[in-house]
Amino acid sequence: MMPRLSLCILAVLTLLPFGTFHAQGSESRDAYVSSNLLAALYHGLGHALIDTMELAPGFEVERRAAELSVLLVDRFYEERAAADMALDTAFGFSERYEARQQAVRPSPYWHAHGTGLERYYDLLCLFAGGNLVERSDLVLSLGLFASRLPGCPDEFTAAIAEWSPVLSRMEDLHLAGRGHPLVIESRAELPGAQRDVLAFEIQALNTIMRLPRPFGVIVDRCYEANIHWLPEQREIIVCVEYVTYLYETAMSR
Ligand SMILES: [Zn+2]
Repeated sequence: MMPRLSLCILAVLTLLPFGTFHAQGSESRDAYVSSNLLAALYHGLGHALIDTMELAPGFEVERRAAELSVLLVDRFYEERAAADMALDTAFGFSERYEARQQAVRPSPYWHAHGTGLERYYDLLCLFAGGNLVERSDLVLSLGLFASRLPGCPDEFTAAIAEWSPVLSRMEDLHLAGRGHPLVIESRAELPGAQRDVLAFEIQALNTIMRLPRPFGVIVDRCYEANIHWLPEQREIIVCVEYVTYLYETAMSR
């Protein structure tokens, strides 16, 4: 088994807003929206890193971006918060998981990045592989076949082996005082406190890592419910409409 990443997890856990709330009513809705927003941010981060660091051929991009979002949750979240995140987001799955609103009325984000059934099981297995003892029941309840569980730690190890050099390099840049912080620019208002959630998360990431090549996160109106990576501008665009959509789906859960 490979050693886990050496990122300064404790520093991040003290900054992340999760684990402190998963309550009822409006707080529960806020938590649901935050989970999905941050999962989408991590996915966007995966695309941005893959692109700016030329990490993967085209057919591998979606798989690796999805893997990074699961690995970041595994690394940065306390166990209960990680489980909440998995339940709230279903790892972007939207094709057959009918309990979720995304399956009924998927947004452009889900169309672009939502996982197919096969990858959904892959991501469940990946998540389980990070902590088989704590997560087996959860992933079985989400549909993973029990026969697959024993192989999940190896799948987790393989994904870590792919992303570990990238994350370690970013951590080294931070320690050396080099590289670029992830910056956020708001060109439009996000509903609820989600702008603060986003800014807080980016601040937390900046306490442990720096980007080898600069890119930013832009909050803007897009006239569709999506989060894009724009390679030419080097920007992850968080559409206000996507967050509004998440609140709508949260209301009808
Ligand atoms: Zn994607």
